[in-house]
Amino acid sequence: MGLTVVIAASEAAPFAKTGGLADVAGSLPVALKHLGCRVLLFMPYYRDVAEKGFEVEPTGLEVPVNMGRRTVRAEVLLGHLHGVPVYFIKRDEFFDRTYLYGTPEGDYFDNLERYAFFSRAVLEIIKLRDLKPDIIHCNDWQTGLIPAYLNDIYRGDPAFEKTATVFTIHNIAYQGQFPANLYDTTGLGFYLFNPEALEFWGNINLLKSGIVFSEALTTVSEAYSKEIQTPDYGYGLEGILKKRKADLFGILNGVDYTEWDPETDSTLPHNYSAEDLKGKAACRKKLLKAFGLKLKIKTPLIGMITRLADQKGIDILAEAMPELMKMELAIAILGSGDRRYQELLADLASHYPGRLSVRIAFNSHLSHLMEAGADMFLMPSRYEPCGLNQIYSLKYGTVPIVRATGGLDDTVKDCSEEGGTGFKFKEYSADALVEKVAEALQVFNNKKAWTEIQMRGMKESFSWNDAAKKYMDVYKAAKARLHKS
Ligand code: ADP
Repeated sequence: MGLTVVIAASEAAPFAKTGGLADVAGSLPVALKHLGCRVLLFMPYYRDVAEKGFEVEPTGLEVPVNMGRRTVRAEVLLGHLHGVPVYFIKRDEFFDRTYLYGTPEGDYFDNLERYAFFSRAVLEIIKLRDLKPDIIHCNDWQTGLIPAYLNDIYRGDPAFEKTATVFTIHNIAYQGQFPANLYDTTGLGFYLFNPEALEFWGNINLLKSGIVFSEALTTVSEAYSKEIQTPDYGYGLEGILKKRKADLFGILNGVDYTEWDPETDSTLPHNYSAEDLKGKAACRKKLLKAFGLKLKIKTPLIGMITRLADQKGIDILAEAMPELMKMELAIAILGSGDRRYQELLADLASHYPGRLSVRIAFNSHLSHLMEAGADMFLMPSRYEPCGLNQIYSLKYGTVPIVRATGGLDDTVKDCSEEGGTGFKFKEYSADALVEKVAEALQVFNNKKAWTEIQMRGMKESFSWNDAAKKYMDVYKAAKARLHKS
């Protein structure tokens, strides 16, 4: 009998998504199931899930969740993801909202309560359903309390006797920090509010909780697993991660090629493949129209799909824009997030009509067309734990131009190397970005060389099957560690 794995995540595609975490939480469970695990996915029942009309059944199950000062009931709905049961935790007071974590103005004020509730509800449902998991795989700060609860409130509970926790850091900059006076909300003993556990410079830190109390830790690329152990990338948690170095593994995300493959992508006006690229031109045509751009055939279109957040390099892009706009190229950006970046981009676009077009939206359909229709794809990230769009770009023959950091560094090979698949710049600066784009343009003008780069990228494969096997090894390591302790 395979392992029983519970995956707890605050978002999972296709149900609710703000970024790469959803792609992972939507794909990994299915890949693990194919490897013989019994997998159950837990996530909140957001308004988005209800509105998109996914098929869910009531279970009749309602669990009381102790929230320190009050007890709150969680309703449980059951959905399915390619044969994996999905337990949706419903509490409208917390999850029936327009956004998942906050508005463009900032985070929701009660995020600690919302995700403490979710974390505790996951454990209560596991108990009630007698699921007896081998592994609870937690993801990011929203589930960081689960390992702490197991170590404190549920210690010695037979329901979790054989349960080890694995914690995945998808982005260390988002730590779920809250003022100490809200500690009650966690329901945890006060003895855990110390620097060896949940306390972080006087605040409660949920990501730290996950790091400290889990048997094994992973992050989403080899390079990022090293970077986060340094002060430049660790956001204050580098010390604690260094201590747990032996239990920290970098596993690159896979890609769901049933969704992201130009040969079969049903959202495209024309499909194409490495053997026959013709359909890509039709995609470009439709994309240009969607962005209101008119370009000569020889003018490359650079695409960018991004959360509008500090991490994504919008600042150096803005600084580089006057130089970029002197070159023979156009840029199309699809992004959503921080208000100030929305305004910055809208302002830039107004300066370069017909050359820079910006769409502020979260639009999955359009994102597929961009991957297919653009000639190049830009990711000038300050840091990037894994990054998915550059991997999609490789598959779509859309040559990535990226900053050499984290997963971008691990997945794109610079064209100066043997077997290059894209363009990488090292220094986080507008100058380095401009220089790399200029280099890419030069190669673009040499059709034969360009096509070769496209072909190499399109043949790369980052499968979930490979990634899931690595997670299985980590699960085994976590179980071994549990038995030792
Ligand atoms: P992150 O998780 O930091 O946002 P990733 O590259 O790992 O970055 O994953 C981002 C995912 O979200 C990709 O699947 C990307 O296509 C998608 N995405 C990001 N912004 C948008 C948007 N505005 N519209 C549609 N999809 C988006």
